[in-house]
Amino acid sequence: MPRYAAVRSHIIDLPAYEPVFPINRLAEAYHLPLEGLVKLDANENPYAPFEFIRAALAGLDNIHRYPDPEGTALRAALSDYFAVPVENILAGAGADDLIDLIMRLFLDPDDCVLNCPPTFGMYAFDAGLYRARAVNVPRRADFSLDLEAIERAVETEHPKLIFVTSPNNPDGSLLSPDDLERLLALPAIVVLDEAYVEFAPPGTSVIARVPQCENLVVLRTFSKWAGLAGLRVGYGVFPLWMMAQLWKIKQPYSLSVAAECAGVEAIQHADELNRVGQKIIAERERLFQALQKFSWLKVYPSQANFLLCRLMGRDAAAVKQTL
Ligand code: PMP
Repeated sequence: MPRYAAVRSHIIDLPAYEPVFPINRLAEAYHLPLEGLVKLDANENPYAPFEFIRAALAGLDNIHRYPDPEGTALRAALSDYFAVPVENILAGAGADDLIDLIMRLFLDPDDCVLNCPPTFGMYAFDAGLYRARAVNVPRRADFSLDLEAIERAVETEHPKLIFVTSPNNPDGSLLSPDDLERLLALPAIVVLDEAYVEFAPPGTSVIARVPQCENLVVLRTFSKWAGLAGLRVGYGVFPLWMMAQLWKIKQPYSLSVAAECAGVEAIQHADELNRVGQKIIAERERLFQALQKFSWLKVYPSQANFLLCRLMGRDAAAVKQTL
């Protein structure tokens, strides 16, 4: 028997997740100077790294110790900042870590996860890792949710989890308040991924609602707004009943000493980061206008730090390659 036959069969059949290509390897592959490349394809923060974060990391004197498994300092900072009880907050190695943790908590093989593509690929991918079924209810042409189809799918497929992204990746549209209410009325847990919400109008986030809501989880990340994608730091706000179970299964040291330190610094410098956020929003609008002059591009309005363009009469892969 070949050794790989011992691997769980659904993993052998699973297509690999396609992460973004690191910029230094891109420079090497195309023999281009690293300094000459502008990298915008992973929705990172182009104005980072920030000096105050670098200085705090350089001053760390405890990296030979295991991190605080509870992420106490970061959770306290987040609790103050959002006025959300610390007991509802869990931090980890990026929002990806928390997506995985939620699935680990809920999914038995053949359980259903409701997914609304086009959207972030990690929900369907992670569902596959747990041998769950990702049932797709595609978004409408304007990328809004098809609530009638979602409600029908909930009746027939009984998903345990519904994943929704707002602003959505890849288009940057927001979940409407009415749609959120309809989702919350369903017999499922709604996981709302707000990875890009800092680039949306103030008041868009529903993070403060979570403690009063039994079936809402909100995920956030420091990768975009705070420019910490490489350090892996994200967090979620969860109903209390779920927190008790999450603490049991969380990898104790998933939030590294460096990640927690950088996260706390970011919250302490939130005003500065919000000013950078405003600059990114202004650049988004400038680019949105500038791209209008290409008759073969349809640019979608976005509330995130990226723009989606539909190409008309041209091959998107070829244009990407040229860029
Ligand atoms: N959610 C969405 C919608 C994303 O687009 C991304 C990053 N591409 C993530 C989560 C992952 O965030 P993190 O870097 O915190 O794992």
